[in-house]
Amino acid sequence: MLIYNTLTRKKEEFIPIHEGQVSMYVCGPTVYDLFHIGNARSFIMADIIRRYLEFKGFKVKFAMNLTDIDDKIIKKSNQENIEAKAVAEKYISAFLEDSLKLNIKRADLYPKATEHINDIIGLIKDLEEKGYAYNIDGNVFYDVSKFFGYGKLSGKKTDELESGARIEINEEKKNPLDFSLWKKAKIGEPSWESPWGKGRPGWHIECSAMSMKHLGETLDIHAGGSDLIFPHHENEIAQSEAHSGRKFVNYWMHFGFLNIQNEKMSKSLGNFFTARDVLSKFSAETIRLFFAQTHYAGPLNFSEELLTAAGKGQEKIVNLVERVNQLLSSDKAGQSTNSSSQADFNSFRESFVSAMDDDFNTPQATAVIFDFVKEANRIIDENPNLDKAFLEKILEFLSSTAQDVLGILNLNSVGNDNGKSLENDLIELLIRLRSKAKIEKNYKLSDEIRDELKKIGVVLQDQKEKTIYKKVKTDA
Ligand code: AMP
Ligand code: ZN
Repeated sequence: MLIYNTLTRKKEEFIPIHEGQVSMYVCGPTVYDLFHIGNARSFIMADIIRRYLEFKGFKVKFAMNLTDIDDKIIKKSNQENIEAKAVAEKYISAFLEDSLKLNIKRADLYPKATEHINDIIGLIKDLEEKGYAYNIDGNVFYDVSKFFGYGKLSGKKTDELESGARIEINEEKKNPLDFSLWKKAKIGEPSWESPWGKGRPGWHIECSAMSMKHLGETLDIHAGGSDLIFPHHENEIAQSEAHSGRKFVNYWMHFGFLNIQNEKMSKSLGNFFTARDVLSKFSAETIRLFFAQTHYAGPLNFSEELLTAAGKGQEKIVNLVERVNQLLSSDKAGQSTNSSSQADFNSFRESFVSAMDDDFNTPQATAVIFDFVKEANRIIDENPNLDKAFLEKILEFLSSTAQDVLGILNLNSVGNDNGKSLENDLIELLIRLRSKAKIEKNYKLSDEIRDELKKIGVVLQDQKEKTIYKKVKTDA
C-alpha cells in the first residue's frame, strides 16, 4: 500500500511501526462555532482512510483532538457573555452530532486541551530544560534557531518561512518564527497555574503533548488540512522531536482545500456553508460521494450543482440495492445454480483494492463501484431467474466497499422499508443522540435511549465504532 508522505514528497510503501496496528492522529476542530463543509472534507477523507486501513485488517487507534481553549473561543465567550468552557461544550456537542450525521466513525479518543494541562506543562518544562524554550515575563516561546531541521515538512528555508504570513507578531520574541508554548494570562481570561505563572497553552504544543501521550513518541500517521503544514505541523515536529530525540511521525498526510470559486472556504473570508446547512439539503452518503470523487490531496470546488450530480450517482447505487432486495423478497429468486451464480465479483474487488492501495485513490475506487452497479444491473436484466446466492453477493460487495469503506451507502436505510422512511430516519436520529450521550459520558441518557427503543421493538447492537439496529416483534 502506497501513501504520499508530505515530509519526503513522495509515495512510500506503508509499513506500520507495529505489525497489524496503526496509530493515527488527525487535527480536529477549534470548537468556537459550527464546522463548515470545508472542515468536513478533511474529517471525511480522514475517516475514509481510517476505514480503509481497517478494511485491510489493521487495528487502528484513531485520535482527533478538540482545541477547547484558544483566542477564538475567548473572543466568542466575550461576545456572548458566557464562559469559555460553556462555548467549548456547546460546540463540542454540535461537532459530535454533525460528525455522526456525516457518517464519520467515532474516534477512539477525542483528547481535549483543557484536560491535558499537566501533560502540556510537563512537555514545556522539558523543552525549557533542554534549551529549546525561553521565558519572557510569563510568556514562554519555542526557540526555532535551536532546532536543526526546522522547515523540513514545508520544504522551506527559515528565511522563506519568515516572509510567509500567518506567524504570530510579537515584539518579545527573539526571532519572528519563534512561537508561543505558554501564554501569560490576561485579565478576565481563563488560566491555569504553571511554573511561569498563570496562563494557558499555545495551540501547537497541545497536539504534541496529546498525540505523544496517547499514541507514543512516534506515530504512524498524522493528518490534517494542508493549511496546517506550516506553521502548525512544522512546530509539532520541532516540539516533539526536541523532546523525544526520535522521529515524531512516519507518514504525514494533508488534505486539499474545499474551495468556493477557487478560493479556500474559510470562516474568516465568510465564504462558507456549515456542514449542518448542507446536511439539511443532501444526505451524508451524497456529500461523501461528492468528496470521494476527488483525490484527497487535490483542490475541489464546492457548488450545489456538483452535489446534486453526486446525489444522482448515489441514487444509482440505492436503486440497485432496492432492485436486489425486491428480487430477494419475491419468489423469483431461486436456489438453482445457473451460470450467473458462477460469476463472482473478484475482479471488481481487486480493482477497488488496487485503487485504494495507491494512496487512497477514491475517485478510481468510486468509478469501480459504478462499473459494478452497471454490470450487476446488466446481469439482472439478462437473467430473469437469478439465484439467491448471486443476489446476496451483490449486496455483500456493496456492503464491504461502498458502505463500510467509503460510507456512500447505508444499507440499513435502504433495505428495511423499501427505501428511506421517516421511521428509519427517527431510529437513526436516536442512535446518533445516544452515541453523542455516550461520548459525553452521559450513560444514564444513553442507557435510557437503548432501553426505551427496546420496549418498542428496536434492538441496538454496538459494534466497534457504530451501532446497528434490528426490528423485533414485541409482546405489547
Ligand atoms: P480548524 O477548526 O480551523 O482548526 O479546522 C479543522 C480542520 O479543517 C483542519 O484540519 C483544517 O486544516 C481543515 N480545513 C479548514 N478549512 C478547510 C477547507 N476549506 N478545506 C479542507 N479542509 C479545511
Ligand atoms: Zn494539531
